[in-house]
Amino acid sequence: MIPYGRQDISEADIQAVVDVLRSDFLTQGPAVPAFENAVANYCQVNHAVAVNSATSALHIACLALGVGKADIVWTSPITFVASANCALYCGAEVDFVDIDSRTYNISVERLAEKLAQAQLDGVLPKVVIPVHLSGQPCDMVAIHLLGRQYGFKIIEDASHAIGGKYLNEPIGNCRYSDITVFSFHPVKIITTGEGGMALTNDLQLAKRMQLLRSHGITREIADMTQALDGPWYYEQIALGFNYRMTDIQAALGLSQMKRLDEFVSKRHSIANRYEELLANLPVVTPWQHHEGYSGLHLYVIRLKLNEIQKSHLVVFEALRAAGVAVNLHYIPVYRQPYYKRMGFNVGHCQEAEHYYAEAISLPMYPGLTNQQQNQIVTVLKEIVGA
Ligand SMILES: *Cc1c(COP(=O)(O)O)cnc(C)c1O
Repeated sequence: MIPYGRQDISEADIQAVVDVLRSDFLTQGPAVPAFENAVANYCQVNHAVAVNSATSALHIACLALGVGKADIVWTSPITFVASANCALYCGAEVDFVDIDSRTYNISVERLAEKLAQAQLDGVLPKVVIPVHLSGQPCDMVAIHLLGRQYGFKIIEDASHAIGGKYLNEPIGNCRYSDITVFSFHPVKIITTGEGGMALTNDLQLAKRMQLLRSHGITREIADMTQALDGPWYYEQIALGFNYRMTDIQAALGLSQMKRLDEFVSKRHSIANRYEELLANLPVVTPWQHHEGYSGLHLYVIRLKLNEIQKSHLVVFEALRAAGVAVNLHYIPVYRQPYYKRMGFNVGHCQEAEHYYAEAISLPMYPGLTNQQQNQIVTVLKEIVGA
């Protein structure tokens, strides 16, 4: 089977992990801050807080922005469930804003309409979480302006997008957001096995997230509320979690950072090649906005079902049967049974439904060979009868 995505691990990556295993610290040692610094420098952002997953990063990002009961958070329906679940962890409500028909990212037009209505109804969101689907940045300038106008905060879910750019600046610099989150799951652009990071330019938000990732415990005297009992003393001043990243993971991440640009440019050559090879097939290839340089975590095609004699499901199954482990990113979140129980219905977002009926993620990862790519395209050609 050719997977839809996979990690790229070098001997240097392995050595970096082994070095930590032979060192004094498996966790809470020097590798985590070194990795945080490397990512912060790369992204030109002031603060980076490494955690054990992007899911955890989204959770503490929401908490740091004060999301709680009676608050509302909006995100895109075409995302991994974690982008929405983070609000529910905080006791907040979630709603979904439909996607743009070309980028499949949150639609700024739909967002503006929904905000105008929400203002009339007195139910404006506290936080909006745009997701850079496949690594393609959302229209952040417009979303930021709407944030100013309606008073919401912004968390960029950039789980797909490290290594990408928006208006020629690195995604993650938080120029148009309060916090940006990355994922280092093995299918993503770089990996730490499991891991995530929250970036911000706001010192107070960074401190809050550092506190929350480690039980809400501080050892900084300035943050304490009581006199020290002795040198062993620490204070728990908030209800935090154990969301820490280990040094083993951070060492892998730091080593992977050295090849980040190479990974992304390899993804672009693969995408360019797909673009050529798929030119005459009845599929829509990913549209790339000129304002962005995508991380290209995913390569999503859409079937032109009116030109194909087979259904979406049949094409999907045929690809899998032929050894191409295609996937579908994503099922609109509101279609999940857990969300349906909260009152959401199928069809909540029209454009998301169209997307869901046609999308297929073809294999996309730096190690994909030309030969494998040819094989994928040949199989697809046979199936869609072109
Ligand atoms: C992968 C992913 C997450 C969650 O990342 P983890 O590191 O696995 O917790 C969140 N949002 C999006 C869009 C993702 O793709």
